[in-house]
Amino acid sequence: MPNAETRYVFVTGGVVSSLGKGICSAALGALLKLHGYRVRIRKFDPYLNVDAGTMNPYQHGECFVTDDAAETDLDLGHYERFTGVNARKTDCITAGQIYQEVIAHERKKGFKGATVQVVPHITDAIKSKLQEDTTDTDFVICEIGGTVGDIEGLPFLEAIRQVRNDLGSERTLFIHCTLLPYLETAGELKTKPAQHSVKELLGVGIQPDFMICRTTVALEKPERHKLAQFCNIHDNRLFESRDAKTIYAVPKMLHGQALDIRVLEYFNKPAKSHISLKAWDGIVTSLTDPNRDCITVGIVGKYTKLPDAYKSLIEALQHAGIHHNVEVKISWIDSGKSPEELRQKMDQCQGILVPGGFGVRGIEGMIDAVRYAREKNVPYLGICLGMQIAVIEAMRNIGGSNLADSVEFHRDKEREIEPVIALLSEWAKDGIIESRGIHSDFGGTMRLGAADCALNPDSKIAQIYDATVITERHRHRYEVNPHYCDELAKLGVVFSGHTQHETLPAIPEIMEREDHPWFIGVQFHPELKSRPFEPHPLFASYIAACLQNERLL
Ligand code: GLN
Repeated sequence: MPNAETRYVFVTGGVVSSLGKGICSAALGALLKLHGYRVRIRKFDPYLNVDAGTMNPYQHGECFVTDDAAETDLDLGHYERFTGVNARKTDCITAGQIYQEVIAHERKKGFKGATVQVVPHITDAIKSKLQEDTTDTDFVICEIGGTVGDIEGLPFLEAIRQVRNDLGSERTLFIHCTLLPYLETAGELKTKPAQHSVKELLGVGIQPDFMICRTTVALEKPERHKLAQFCNIHDNRLFESRDAKTIYAVPKMLHGQALDIRVLEYFNKPAKSHISLKAWDGIVTSLTDPNRDCITVGIVGKYTKLPDAYKSLIEALQHAGIHHNVEVKISWIDSGKSPEELRQKMDQCQGILVPGGFGVRGIEGMIDAVRYAREKNVPYLGICLGMQIAVIEAMRNIGGSNLADSVEFHRDKEREIEPVIALLSEWAKDGIIESRGIHSDFGGTMRLGAADCALNPDSKIAQIYDATVITERHRHRYEVNPHYCDELAKLGVVFSGHTQHETLPAIPEIMEREDHPWFIGVQFHPELKSRPFEPHPLFASYIAACLQNERLL
């Protein structure tokens, strides 16, 4: 049953993409939370992929994973980091998912012979998803992906138009994010594109109540007046979103214009007379302090040309930097480049990190990077693929097993390998033991979402986490092959964390090197749980080790 008290704030975007409507949604969520409200932030993505799991990170950026195993858009990561509220499967809704469900229902004769149409069947499905799982929620902030005018977005706009009719303006609010370009030659901010995008919205029956304008300069009276007049939006419901030095400055910027107060006023909900943004100020001051020490972490991976592919990782490193009051610079090192080029770049870094990834391209460069970090005592953090690579490196370069490899890189079995990283045929998902094979479907066959990991009490990792059982999020298909664990132990590899399951054997999840000052590989993705106010312990410890390394280099 939908919660009859929940209010819905819809955030649309106009003129161009990448306006930061995800950040504005996240910032509003953070502010409403400070006023004491329970907030969820949802994303409607109009693309036809069922989820973000199969999308190329080069096109779409990182695939964010929730505790409950949804593979989502990277905006969900921002929502979590800004609000501290863990996103759920129900917070990421794609057109693909909606169509899949509606068509599956039709195949089962669920519509009893009716002609299945976008309106009302798809729009009804969108409306019911919107209101699902809201029992514990005062406000759902719902961002509509894409830009007004996109053909794919129409069913979503139609659905939210209907929601306004169904629930009334007491429970729904439309915020439109738009761009005001500044024309240098005219010395003017131009409002026309914004007016046009509001017209476009009006064309589908939506009159925005509030508008957030992305600008590079201040929004002065004449432009405010124009926008208010031509877009039918009251002057005090127009907000500017200036380019900020860091995304973490946005909550304060919007609070400075009383966005949160106006939203609560609109809904007739009490606002606190004062909310403290001290914690946000601290983050911004730290991130923009020019006098901070600076270290460089070399990220050796294959999507290095599009940092969005590693969004949460970058954030987690920044959070740890805030914690130590140090600027963490990232040197993007393409693992496909020549060994000389890799070495030259790594020589400039205080720490090496091999992040998650898929496929065989660039693997040899990653193995070289691990070797470099191991031999030169440079702090090494391997995440998911980065852990698997560290295991392969030990087998090859210390153990002399040149054929050591991951099954992932030899799916066609073109040559014999020593499968030190393998596909385990059985895995527990939602308490059920699942079987999978090398050619199983890509979507949905991965080990995904939060799972417990038991730590050896006397290990470095247990010290770092100050715990013996941790919960981290996963997104991978392959595992360390337990068959090789004894051999790896002889090569200095310590497996200090394992899966725990009643019936299935424990699988190694964390590796350390006993002969190295800081060398840790983890099979999960700790970066997904780092928060600006609460740096992840593993990243905090890694950055501390990098800081010490300045003296070693
Ligand atoms: N490709 C590896 C696997 O599927 C690692 C995945 C990752 O790094 N997220 O197991």
